Amino acid sequence: MTHTAAPVWKNWSQNVSFSPETIQRPATLEELSSFLSGSSGRVRPVGNGHSFTPLAKTSGSLVSLEALEGDVLSVDQERHEATLNAGASLNQLSKALDQHNLAFKNLGDIDVQSLAGATSTATHGTGATLPCLSAEITAVSLLTAAGELLRVDDQHNPDLLPAVQVALGALGVLVDATVRLRPSYKLRRETFVRPLADTLAEAEDRWKSHRNYEFFYLPFCDFAFNITHDETTEPDQRDGASDDEAALRDLRRLRTGLKRVGPVRRAILNQVAKRAATERVVGKSFALLANERTSIFNEMEYHLPAATGLEALAEVISLVESNPDVYFPVECRRTAGDTAWLSPFQGADRISVAVHIGEGDNYQWLFDVIEPVLRRHGGRPHWGKLHSLAAMELRELYPDFDRFTELRREVDPTGRFLNPHTAMLWEEKFREC
Ligand SMILES: Cc1cc2nc3c(=O)[nH]c(=O)nc-3n(C[C@H](O)[C@H](O)[C@H](O)COP(=O)(O)OP(=O)(O)OC[C@H]3O[C@@H](n4cnc5c(N)ncnc54)[C@H](O)[C@@H]3O)c2cc1C
Repeated sequence: MTHTAAPVWKNWSQNVSFSPETIQRPATLEELSSFLSGSSGRVRPVGNGHSFTPLAKTSGSLVSLEALEGDVLSVDQERHEATLNAGASLNQLSKALDQHNLAFKNLGDIDVQSLAGATSTATHGTGATLPCLSAEITAVSLLTAAGELLRVDDQHNPDLLPAVQVALGALGVLVDATVRLRPSYKLRRETFVRPLADTLAEAEDRWKSHRNYEFFYLPFCDFAFNITHDETTEPDQRDGASDDEAALRDLRRLRTGLKRVGPVRRAILNQVAKRAATERVVGKSFALLANERTSIFNEMEYHLPAATGLEALAEVISLVESNPDVYFPVECRRTAGDTAWLSPFQGADRISVAVHIGEGDNYQWLFDVIEPVLRRHGGRPHWGKLHSLAAMELRELYPDFDRFTELRREVDPTGRFLNPHTAMLWEEKFREC
């Protein structure tokens, strides 16, 4: 096993940084198990560091599975399921699964997250009938704080499945997961501009009539970008594919140059939006659902009851328009309900509203102005994105919250997997050991 006395570790957006005592990179499960059984200090599992919350922060040992060999560990072609290395990235897994004519049913905006990291925070894409990735997990293997293997499947501890699907690294180190998949498929993506008011009015219909649908409200613009994905067998096509990163650079420049002259900024944005041509792209599902994101931002996303989600978004839009510094598009998606104890989608489908603040800009505004609105409308926060909730509020939002914390204490009685952030979530006292 390689383990290094670690330099400073930073997450993707660099809003979280810390110096763990060591970073453990086991090459085998035996190495990981003997590290856990032969030590007693604090441990936090980490994936690809794409969470904005300090979930991984520790002064003890950070455990990364990046050196574990393998991606697809076994395949069940009849059930369209595969057991996957939980440390592998969704991108690596998508390409490997395609070799077996299998694919994830859905993906989020990016696919560089590890499978373990993505399921642990209920990472989602969009689609009224498509649940988040965690809901497609049918079995897992975890190494507990004592280094013992905890198997959860339909033969072993089946009642724990809804607990381990979304567990924030609190129950142990997830080493493999069996995922419900489907045969490989192609999608047709269409990106088009519609007036904002029409977009809001038509959103429900679009969620009903498209496999995947999301839209982006452009701050200080009367138009929104709509994106649909539908299954197709058409030949590959790339017609007018846009460059999101170049567009973001332009939006930032416009914000900086024109933030004191709002009407001019709006007029320019409206002109540009009106002229944007419809983009039509056909290709493999995983190539079209996920994007590469290089412009750094910080983000808050809440998952709202379907009945109030668009109302909450309308309120968010009016608040965004009072902050001339904001230039990143606000994203609106929908995800089907599931049964995991800590899934924000537990119980029924939800509409997600995500507000982004560009690199270097102060994001305290998200907590002061945006979060109260999202909370008032019954939102549950994305575990990996900025939020200020602690046990008292979370217990109100999650019917199985206490069930999870009891299980957590049972599986990790000495609190090895705690850090200050998760201690706040689980209402535990935290002291360094
Ligand atoms: C640019 C960008 C785009 C994003 N787009 C989306 C999106 O479209 N949809 C969405 O829902 N989210 C999105 N996210 C958020 C992201 O998907 C989640 O924060 C996800 O958890 C990150 O995965 P990761 O592998 O980086 O995990 P990390 O951030 O490293 O860890 C996340 C959690 O998983 C736990 N964990 C990691 N590995 C293990 C393991 N082996 N065993 C047990 N626990 C483990 C950690 O302890 C931590 O609690 C985005 C984030 C960024 C930066």
